[in-house]
Amino acid sequence: MATRLIIVSNRVAIPDTRQHLAGGLAVAVKAALRDRVGVWFGWSGDISDQEATAPRRLKRGRVDYAVIDLSEADYQEYYNGFANRVLWPILHYRVDLQEYSRADQSGYMRVNSLFADQLDAIIEEDDVVWVHDYHLMPLARELRARGRVNPIGFFLHIPCAPPDILATMPNHEEILGSLVHYDLVGFQTDNDRDNFAHYLTSLGAKPVRSASFTLDGRTTRLGAFPVGIETAVYARLARNAVRSRFVREMVESLNGQKLMLGVDRLDYSKGIIHRLNAFDRFLEVNPEWRSRVTYLQVTPKSRGEIREYAQIENEVTTLISKINGRFGEAAWTPVRYVNRSYSRTALAGVYRAADVALVTPLRDGMNLVAKEFVAAQDPENPGALILSQFAGAAAELDGAVIVNPHEVEGVAAAIKQALEMPLIERRDRHGPMLARLRDHTVDQWSDSFLTALGETRQRPSLIEGLRAMFGASA
Ligand code: UDP
Repeated sequence: MATRLIIVSNRVAIPDTRQHLAGGLAVAVKAALRDRVGVWFGWSGDISDQEATAPRRLKRGRVDYAVIDLSEADYQEYYNGFANRVLWPILHYRVDLQEYSRADQSGYMRVNSLFADQLDAIIEEDDVVWVHDYHLMPLARELRARGRVNPIGFFLHIPCAPPDILATMPNHEEILGSLVHYDLVGFQTDNDRDNFAHYLTSLGAKPVRSASFTLDGRTTRLGAFPVGIETAVYARLARNAVRSRFVREMVESLNGQKLMLGVDRLDYSKGIIHRLNAFDRFLEVNPEWRSRVTYLQVTPKSRGEIREYAQIENEVTTLISKINGRFGEAAWTPVRYVNRSYSRTALAGVYRAADVALVTPLRDGMNLVAKEFVAAQDPENPGALILSQFAGAAAELDGAVIVNPHEVEGVAAAIKQALEMPLIERRDRHGPMLARLRDHTVDQWSDSFLTALGETRQRPSLIEGLRAMFGASA
């Protein structure tokens, strides 16, 4: 029996269904399964209070999709409660937004245990299991408790805060400490990995071989695996999409003005308010730019049931009307706001047509929008990228104008710099970033994670031997 790859994530993107999962995780998982025989297991997105039976299965090509429904209590406690009101804010350094409750934590543990029960019936001896994201941290411990000795890896798509912040979560050891039951835990950046290494040390874990730690008799390896995009596919998509009627009409409507673009889920981590304040300041101190630039903000709604998300929606719309009221003219609207999701193709065309992208999250695991914008540009006449130092992508995209999103004057100055950047400088900055994205695609990301996961099961002496032969990267 060939080795199968079992992917587990909160949601599953089943092909040919109307479910559109905006987000980097779905693209990354699809890439991991593209050339492999596998199963993708997770929540269907449906709520049902019927007793859980076996997962619903659907085979497409070499991939078997397996989904289960959650009950209303599961959905509220595990997903809305613990995952999105505790883990999400804490891992994004927002201790102030944590809303912990014991009921939510027990719902989180219950769903992880339910996932493990259902998976236990699917996993075979030779399978490799790859679990994705913060919803499913204790899953490996649950599977180990059911006797599963398969290689199991975990990838955290979002940031990892330093230990003092992680320790503000009640019972954090039970959740975050359980990650030692994975053979490999992957992060987006060296900084995230180092934060988690310090956290494990604070729990009493001992370093063993390079990048591995032992705690409570379990050894886990930590690594940084920055997620990439399908660079060539994206570039082609953008080249074609920019000729579409949708994009041509948008460009015509600008009447020769420059286009500055923001694309973010409506989420407090994205720094949309800070960014709007910076644009307001930019227009205030640079009157010569009024009527010469339009800022288009594409912001699909997200997690509307959570109070902070509803609040931020109000704040964003209020601030946009203030800016438009303050600076707008009969023939010019400074900020255009689209409060829904654009298709991948439409977005690729808009990226290509834009002169500047403003990507200024307060904290972001990676930020694929930044990478997609770079891939979508015309290399002969590329747009300029303004990027927050707190996005994981900043570790790779050093040709961007890097900003601290908390400093209004700094971001306002960066907007001016980007809008006025000479062609030669734009090319000099863009070329190396595009080269980096071509070398570090999403396929390379999944291959390197799975290779490292396989290595954790080899004898250390063999790995050291390979290192000696091929250098540190072996
Ligand atoms: N996206 C999309 N349509 C939209 C807005 C975003 O398809 O209207 C996609 C975007 O192309 C990117 C993903 O959603 O691939 C967002 O990923 P990112 O890492 O930037 O942020 P996340 O939402 O995962 O925090």
